[in-house]
Parts: sequence; structure tokens; C-alpha cells
Amino acid sequence: MEYSSFLIKYGEIGVKGKNRYLFENALMQQIKYALKRCEGQFKVHKAEGRIYVDALSDFDQDEVTDNLKTVFGISGICPMTFSEDNGFEDLKVFVIDYMKKVYADASEGTTFKVYARRSNKRYPLDSMELNALLGEAILEAMPVLKVDVHNPDITLFVEVRERIYVYSEVIPGPGGMPVGTGGKAMLLLSGGIDSPVAGYMISKRGVKIDAVYFHAPPYTSERAKQKVIDLAKKVSRYSGPIYLHVINFTDIQLAIYEKCPQDELTIIMRRYMMRIAETIAKETGCLGLITGESIGQVASQTLASLAVTNEVCTLPVFRPCIGMDKLEIVEISQKIDTYETSILPYEDCCTIFVAKHPVTKPSLEIIAKHEHNLDEVIDDLLKNALETKETIVVSTDE
Ligand code: ATP
Ligand code: MG
Repeated sequence: MEYSSFLIKYGEIGVKGKNRYLFENALMQQIKYALKRCEGQFKVHKAEGRIYVDALSDFDQDEVTDNLKTVFGISGICPMTFSEDNGFEDLKVFVIDYMKKVYADASEGTTFKVYARRSNKRYPLDSMELNALLGEAILEAMPVLKVDVHNPDITLFVEVRERIYVYSEVIPGPGGMPVGTGGKAMLLLSGGIDSPVAGYMISKRGVKIDAVYFHAPPYTSERAKQKVIDLAKKVSRYSGPIYLHVINFTDIQLAIYEKCPQDELTIIMRRYMMRIAETIAKETGCLGLITGESIGQVASQTLASLAVTNEVCTLPVFRPCIGMDKLEIVEISQKIDTYETSILPYEDCCTIFVAKHPVTKPSLEIIAKHEHNLDEVIDDLLKNALETKETIVVSTDE
């Protein structure tokens, strides 16, 4: 079947009242962003309270649906075909032709109903008449089919506007809310499996994301940094463009390494990451931080460790993977295509400076006391890290 446009279905939650246009505009903007990755030209427009994507040139149906599936807020994608209004006899032929093409292999007893909507009130038949007459015509042309108005296998939608649009397939969208309707948050993005998934999940609720990566050259290589950029790019298919802030963390890490107890290195390092991420978040209008932490996954993610890490932040910290097992996180990373990149074996700053036996029950008092060992140097180091940050705009645009 050759389709010419798509009807975009979106959930009704959050769409009511005066915010509806904000929701729709954000959705249209994200649809346009996703379509830039597709061959062909498209028009995205709103008509009669619905959103349509019209193809203005040849396009690849699979490519377009795959990319629309990355747009949060879409609950269903309906490929449509249309006919000019040349009278009912012509429409009948068109509809029968559609059914024969799309359901050529329908088995005996497959049920259907016609669901017509007449928004062009000048059309001489009303929706009830259209349902009955088109249903009858289809039955006659395809005797294997049966009508079931309550629970049909196929619902054939016929929309009479200036032109007449026909569709019957609804391809599930990703759900969620359009990015941009939920404010902005700062993702701590490492090269691991969890943090890209965490970013994806928060973005799914309509939150725009920026990211910060702590780089420790020469202990972490350019390839490790490129891996994080690549991951940000994969997440940005869903989240839209990401401002990725790369912080040179080497001097801070060396200072911690030199002046603090070995078993507390990770937790103190994590606290400085959170402090720096929060500073940038506040400067850039982010309303929260996002991490890929999951309870008990490693020593720095026990409840006691999380409490000590969390203590340095005043912004809320969102941890969408917190209750997930590694396998569940892996499953999502495979779905969003970050997994293969995440498992590339480049060194990570946490693995290089890691202690053999990290504390699992850190005491806030003791950690805070040991952080005072850094008093003489830390202000300058933090200032320098922030001043030398490199910001890369990562997006899927060419
Ligand atoms: P991930 O797979 O996301 O790296 P992980 O299981 O390796 O997670 P940790 O290394 O303890 O866990 O990191 C916990 C969280 O801290 C990460 O999910 C990420 O949000 C943040 N984080 C860790 N290292 C970095 C880094 N180098 N740059 C930015 N954020 C980081
Ligand atoms: Mg990690």
C-alpha cells in the first residue's frame, strides 16, 4: 500500500484545557526533529485538533515510522492514504481497493467495521450512511470478511474532509509526554549502561535534558570521551539536542587520591561530581539532576552511600533506574540502541581511581571530615574545572 500521510495519535493526559496547545506545539517540534533524519520532505500540521504528517515527496515508510517511534507523546502512528472527493461511487472503489491491498491475506471470518467521520458537513452523506454503505460495498467485494461493530479485527477509518482520508492501522508510539513540556534536568552521563537509560526515561516524561561528563585525561582517553558523545547522540534521538558539558576532573581526582582515605575515594569523588553538576544545572536552568544509580549495584550505591552522595545537593536527584535489576536496565539500553556503545571497553574515571575495598556504609560525619583535607586546594580546583568546561551540542541533525 502506498501511504501519503500519517495521523498522529497522542494520549489525552495533560492535553486538556489551556495547556493543550503547548503540548501540541512541543509534539510538532519533536516530530519535525525526528523527520529531519528521514529521506524526503514533510509537512507537519494541526487540523481540527489533530496532528498530521503529510509527505511532500517520495519517502521510506519504515524509516518514517521508525523515527516517529522516537517521539515521546505519540501513542499511535496511523499511515493514511487519501482520495480527492469525486463523489461516492468513486470513494467506494477507492475504499474497496484499499481493503483489497492491505488485507489481501485476510482469513475467512476476519471481522471489520467502517468508522466514518464527516468533518466536511457539505458532504451529501452523513457518517452513519457512510458506515452502512461502505460496509456493504466491502462485504460484497470481499466475501471472506464479516461485520462486527463491537469488537472488530479491523477498523477502517474514513475521514471526510476536503479530501477523503482512509486508514486502518495503528502502529504503537513510545507514549510519554512531548519533550519540552516538563522543564529541563541535568544528566550525569558516564560511558556506562545505566546513565543513558536514566536520561531516556526522564526525557520520556517530557523533560529536556542537558548532560555533564567527567573526563580525567590522560587516565581516560579521547576514545572514552567520544564514547560518551556517541551515547549522548543516541539518547538525543529521543530527547532532542543535548548540551553536553565535559568537565576536566583530573586534578580534583588526583587531589582526592592524595589526601583522602582509599576506601572513601569513590564516595568523595561522587560528591564532587554532584556538586559540580548542580552548579552547572543551576546556571543553565535545570530543575533537577539525573543519575543512573540503582540500589546496591556497587558499594557507592547502597542506601547509606546514596544518602551521603545526595547530601551535597539541594536540587532533587532523579534516579529512574533505582529499583531496576541490571538485566532490566540492559533490556531498555538494547531497545534504545545504547547498549553496544556502552559495553565498549574504554576506561572510566571511576574504575581507574577505585579502591579495592570501598566503604559500603559511609558515615556522613567522617566523609565530611576527610573532605576538609582538601580545603586548601579545592576551591581553586572547582573554579578551574568549571572555567575550563567544554560544551558540545549533540544532536541528530546533520
Ligand atoms: P553507569 O552504567 O551509568 O556508568 P555505573 O553502574 O557504572 O553506572 P557508577 O559508576 O557508580 O555506576 O556511577 C553512578 C552514576 O554516577 C552513573 O549512573 C552516572 O549518572 C554518574 N557518573 C559516574 N561516572 C560519571 C562520569 N565520569 N561522568 C558523569 N557522570 C558519571
Ligand atoms: Mg559507570
